[in-house]
Amino acid sequence: MRYALYYAKVSMMSFEISSETLIEAFENVKEAVRKTEGWSRGGLMLGLQELGGSPDGFVGAYYPVESNIIVLNMTPLRRIMETDHKLLSPYLFAILLHEYLHSLGFMDEAATRQKAHEISSRYLGEYHPSAELSLDMERYQNNLVYPLYGWAPSVPSDIELVKGFDRSSYSSYIA
Ligand SMILES: [Zn+2]
Repeated sequence: MRYALYYAKVSMMSFEISSETLIEAFENVKEAVRKTEGWSRGGLMLGLQELGGSPDGFVGAYYPVESNIIVLNMTPLRRIMETDHKLLSPYLFAILLHEYLHSLGFMDEAATRQKAHEISSRYLGEYHPSAELSLDMERYQNNLVYPLYGWAPSVPSDIELVKGFDRSSYSSYIA
């Protein structure tokens, strides 16, 4: 896969989620994994891409195997901001935790969800929305996809890189 990569400018998004919000969400995820499991890795990049979503399902994010990039789908983020912005930070935690676990070597989908649920329950409490989202995003689907026809780009858009992501790994890089 080849993507055009360029740095995201917040103003390029049609909704207000700052790079800082994304960076802080990821720092929080790394802290949760480090504190509960003692695992960490650095050197990850975050990309943003419009991947769409439909009532049948959606891709919240993906991690190309053995890569160093987590790509977040902007479509559900926009939908959350339009429907219930309070869901943004629980959602970011759940989705970044899931992809971070993939980057740590969890490849099986069910095992990844289970581990994400375990970590978020221990770190945030089992009834925290992030813990529920880690296990089952479908119950929040109304907030994550566009109703009726869904929405998908006819041509996948370029990936925007979030500058300064994975800030904490610069000083102590763990491959
Ligand atoms: Zn996954």
